[in-house]
Amino acid sequence: MPTFPCPTCQRPVEWSAAARWRPFCSERCRLIDLGAWMTEQHAIPGEEISPDVAQPSSDESDDPPRH
Ligand SMILES: [Zn+2]
Repeated sequence: MPTFPCPTCQRPVEWSAAARWRPFCSERCRLIDLGAWMTEQHAIPGEEISPDVAQPSSDESDDPPRH
């Protein structure tokens, strides 16, 4: 079975159907690589959530004042 180095950690990975996360050795390495080119803040998802994302948009601010 041919092997290749994982792009993230350089660990030898078997190139087979069982290698679910190829070309990475694991889901962790895959997420790390994706986060590297997207944004460093997403390298480890689930750790911290920005409060700006959690806040729902306020529709009331768009309504004209009624008297
Ligand atoms: Zn790896």
